[in-house]
Amino acid sequence: MISNYAKNLKLYNSLTGKKEKFIPIQELNVGMYVCGPTVYSNAHLGNCRTFISFDLIYRYLKHLGYNVRYVRNLTDVGHLENEDDTGEDKVSKKARLENLEPMEVVQKYTLDFHSILNKLNTLPPSIEPSATGHIIEQIDSIKQILKSGFAYEKNGSVYFDIMKFNESKTYGKLSGRKIEEMLNQSRSLDGSVDKKNPQDFALWKKAEKNHIMFWDSPWGKGFPGWHLECTSMSKKYLGDYFDIHGGGIDLKFPHHDCEIAQSEAIDGKNPAKFWMHTNMLTLNGKKMSKSIENFILPNEVFNGNNKILSKSFSPNVVKFFIYQAHYRSVLDLSNDALIASEKGFKKLMSGFLSISKLNHNSEVSDFDIDLWISKCYAKMNDDFNTPMLIAELFECVKFINNVKINSKNLNTKDKERLAITFNDILFNILGFNSEISKVEKSNSQNELVELLIKIRSQARNDKNFTLSDQIRDELFKLGIQLNDDKNSSSFELI
Ligand SMILES: [Zn+2]
Repeated sequence: MISNYAKNLKLYNSLTGKKEKFIPIQELNVGMYVCGPTVYSNAHLGNCRTFISFDLIYRYLKHLGYNVRYVRNLTDVGHLENEDDTGEDKVSKKARLENLEPMEVVQKYTLDFHSILNKLNTLPPSIEPSATGHIIEQIDSIKQILKSGFAYEKNGSVYFDIMKFNESKTYGKLSGRKIEEMLNQSRSLDGSVDKKNPQDFALWKKAEKNHIMFWDSPWGKGFPGWHLECTSMSKKYLGDYFDIHGGGIDLKFPHHDCEIAQSEAIDGKNPAKFWMHTNMLTLNGKKMSKSIENFILPNEVFNGNNKILSKSFSPNVVKFFIYQAHYRSVLDLSNDALIASEKGFKKLMSGFLSISKLNHNSEVSDFDIDLWISKCYAKMNDDFNTPMLIAELFECVKFINNVKINSKNLNTKDKERLAITFNDILFNILGFNSEISKVEKSNSQNELVELLIKIRSQARNDKNFTLSDQIRDELFKLGIQLNDDKNSSSFELI
């Protein structure tokens, strides 16, 4: 059953530049496609922000009662170094540098990506299709675009004909870029000599002599262009018209504008009702990017092994930090910001964990719980406004703390509802990891770990390595990792 709150949900649609009421194409089912990672290197924290934000959206839609099919692809082929379809395939290049098979590179970074998202407690998508697993579908899409007259073949490659497309349709709908401006901005020698115009993009690229990954096609051996996989795979799993298409803001142009053009060339339809984009995560005020070496990997934040932060921060704290900004705002990561988030998250968890111990003997409550719940949903319904939702949670923590010192009253019924709603928001909607949160909060557990570290240290001094290793391994199983220094050990939650 769909929740009553669902009818007030509004999403910001990048296509119209407005917040619009969310009415699914089918009453009970929602189709959502999110552009996934390119698996040739580790995902940085900026990438994670996008996937955490869409995990929140996925969780909330499910929480409201919708059946959601969430498709997030893995780009494992055909992404050339330069946006003008020149340069080397990034997977192949990495394979050569690391002396691996291309599919070893893909496997290595796919596993890394999954392990990071797992630590961040995001739900797996319903389908995670890969580009290499859908070459036939992509060749099919190219045939359809050629048939509709919006593409041309040249020397074994196939390009999308932007000028031809723009005669009857509009290219650049999402980014609002005008084709005339794009023409003026382009250098005449941009891209391949085979292209009619520099803005044309590759649907199929002929494999040059040393190219490692290639497939047979009606146009010879080659590989599909990057924009095509999302069109082919979203059509296959969600149909020609689905509810939400999302990704990072850097994908708006050219990737998503190209996707729209491809779909319109195939069947005349813009594929998604809502286009959603998450904003950038900056690092110390500058764009986080691998190409300018200004980035931090999630594991480096979790284990404290980096030159930027003074200590380690748990995945829950990182998630809380990300939720403190709206997904459409730029967010800046810094040591101070994470320390403040850690403090805030502990305060929130401490408030939640003390609900069960609250005195609830009064007849009446000094807290309008119905109003509070409806305010929480209103914040989520306002384009997933997590910072405002967190502010509501803190309002409630204030009340909880007052009940603790007996300056406010709470009755049994409200206490139960408070616990259930708080729990739902923290763990089902925001997706914090409840097990780790409990450990994070619990000082007594921390003290127990410190005690075990002391015993282990004594065992090591006594050369009783069986016992010391056993303590380390058992703690690891509980999600606690010990880091040994020369004279001491510290621990972190993993
Ligand atoms: Zn995509």
